[in-house]
Amino acid sequence: MNLVLLGPPGAGKGTQAARICEAFVLVHLSSGDILRAERKARTELGRKAQGYMDSGGLVPDDLIIAMMMDHISRPQVVERGFLLDGFPRTVVQAQGLDERLSTRRLRIDAVVNMEVDDAEVTRRLTGRWSCPKDGRIYHEVFSPPKKKGLCDDCGETLTRRKDDEPGVVRERLRTYHELSQPLAAYYEKRGVLRTVDGGGTTDEVFNRIKNVCQA
Ligand code: AMP
Repeated sequence: MNLVLLGPPGAGKGTQAARICEAFVLVHLSSGDILRAERKARTELGRKAQGYMDSGGLVPDDLIIAMMMDHISRPQVVERGFLLDGFPRTVVQAQGLDERLSTRRLRIDAVVNMEVDDAEVTRRLTGRWSCPKDGRIYHEVFSPPKKKGLCDDCGETLTRRKDDEPGVVRERLRTYHELSQPLAAYYEKRGVLRTVDGGGTTDEVFNRIKNVCQA
């Protein structure tokens, strides 16, 4: 089975993606995680992506499509099936993906669209802090550290992802509404769209997703 997970930044796609992949034994391919790894490794792609990512804009379609196809085409991914998280993010990317999948006799079986409103995702994203040393993630409201601003495990000062700063979050949401929301209509036309309410606990959302994937 090959799935796509859609939803605004901060919808909880990463958390749900991990659970879906465990339940359905799929390879999780997150375009944001792959880009951050490219940046960390200081590759040419990572350097090219940096400016777009830090300003809340999108990395150009051709670079992203090539990067994701490189991962999707790997034999172990094709064999197991995959879940795409954060990609496609524009209709051009979705068309590029469909064309390349069909030449490999592959297809997207279902697209899960997580709906969460702007106020809620802003609250989730701008309250998110992480430990630069061990990567542990906290949230000011939902899972605060014992001592404000410090990692519970190692005492390191917590930092906020540059793209989770309030001004950048506003820009990411604007980009989402303009370029990514039309994707729902694109997949609806193809009969693969499954929309779920992204509000509530992680378990509640996961159960809704599981139900629509099994339907
Ligand atoms: P994410 O972690 O999915 O929110 O991605 C972080 C950033 O990486 C985004 O704000 C974009 O700048 C970039 N990015 C991730 N996926 C894509 C994509 N499919 N197309 C263009 N840019 C992307």
